[in-house]
Amino acid sequence: MIISYREQRATVSIEFTVPDEVADLAARTATLVREVVIPVEIRVRGALHDGDESVRAKLQQAAREAGVFCQQMPPEYGGLGLDMRGQAVVFEQAGYSLLGPLATNCAAPDEGNMHLLEVVGSPVLRERYLKPLAAGDTRSCFAMTEPAPGAGADPRALATTATRVAGGWRIDGRKWFISGARGAAFAIVMARTSGVAGDAGGATMFLVDAGTPGFKLVRDIDTMDQGLFAGHSEIVFDECVVPDDQVLGEVDRGFEYAQVRLAPARLTHCMRWLGIARRAQDIALGYATTRKAFGGYLADLGMVQQQIADSEIDIEASRAMIYRTAWQLDQSATDSAAGHLSSMTKVFVAEAAYRVVDRSVQICGALGISEDVLLSRYFREVRAFRVYDGPSDTHRWAIAKRVSRRHRTVEA
Ligand SMILES: Cc1cc2nc3c(=O)[nH]c(=O)nc-3n(C[C@H](O)[C@H](O)[C@H](O)COP(=O)(O)OP(=O)(O)OC[C@H]3O[C@@H](n4cnc5c(N)ncnc54)[C@H](O)[C@@H]3O)c2cc1C
Repeated sequence: MIISYREQRATVSIEFTVPDEVADLAARTATLVREVVIPVEIRVRGALHDGDESVRAKLQQAAREAGVFCQQMPPEYGGLGLDMRGQAVVFEQAGYSLLGPLATNCAAPDEGNMHLLEVVGSPVLRERYLKPLAAGDTRSCFAMTEPAPGAGADPRALATTATRVAGGWRIDGRKWFISGARGAAFAIVMARTSGVAGDAGGATMFLVDAGTPGFKLVRDIDTMDQGLFAGHSEIVFDECVVPDDQVLGEVDRGFEYAQVRLAPARLTHCMRWLGIARRAQDIALGYATTRKAFGGYLADLGMVQQQIADSEIDIEASRAMIYRTAWQLDQSATDSAAGHLSSMTKVFVAEAAYRVVDRSVQICGALGISEDVLLSRYFREVRAFRVYDGPSDTHRWAIAKRVSRRHRTVEA
């Protein structure tokens, strides 16, 4: 299906057709999730914070055998080379279980790091870091956020420094909420190489191997979510020296590269969370259509119907925004339209998925609050998505600024 319409004084054509081979991958991913992943999810209750490598290895082996492993990477890294539109279709299927993305090797933060390494990494760095990551032999983390007054919603507050030393760089600073840090083979670390905290430039990305002297994991942070593998940790860089050849890309271009990672990574998060929204709605429908009350089924009661309908609308609208943004990212991942759309889609899907899961909990009554079904887990998981990858408020602020600026320019 091709839709053309006028947008912002320009004609835009959006190609939504799902190729047969992508539809086939989506069907195979859905089968894997239903037959292999969900039984494991029910057994481990979706709790991945302990980072049980045997669970990861078993699920990933099943995904390899099903031919749906690391579908987003190009064939030279063992993947299937799906573009963003293809990813939108299959990641939603993987996201139908909290463990699906882990199985198919499209979970955060590795999936975003793979994309970054593929786009920015030199051939040597891709061979050393991307290849084993794409194969599922290693895990990684992305270390940007710092305790106050350092980098958070405003990355320009970056306070971690990298200072030139003979043959390399010495990194000093503290990072927290670093997902997957425990057990990761390496971290992609943002550090300031010029300017001072508050400056818009001067950041550089470094690849720091686990075990490098001065790279210390100081604590695991207890959080309401439990679904990201190995949880979230606080790490310290204390005179941690890395060689020159472990600079990712060019010195002082770190903020630019962060956008290369974040615009697509935000959208792939939306794709996966759409899967959980659909699962929550299915659980609620299973209950509402079988639970009898007041002479009929819950699904026959008007206020329950309203919740079911509103969730269906949220799911459909989320999918439409994801596909639209995926199309834009496929045209150009770095243009401002793609960033603007991915910001809006992130806000909408994070809040829509939260609403869907919240309604599903309500429809299921006490069962929804219990751990007997996974809804209460999803409720905790999906709440955090309104904070990471940019809080909703920060995106709204940036969206409004861009739209106002455009309006002023056009009207002037
Ligand atoms: C589960 C989870 C996993 C994470 N994983 C990682 C990771 O792997 N790597 C990493 O580097 N970081 C990670 N983070 C950190 C995440 O990126 C930050 O939490 C996020 O960028 C916000 O920064 P902050 O928490 O310092 O909030 P702050 O910057 O202190 O902001 C606090 C609040 O202020 C409000 N606010 C901020 N800006 C504006 C604005 N412009 N207008 C209006 N209100 C505003 C928002 O409500 C915001 O929530 C993770 C966080 C969570 C919760």
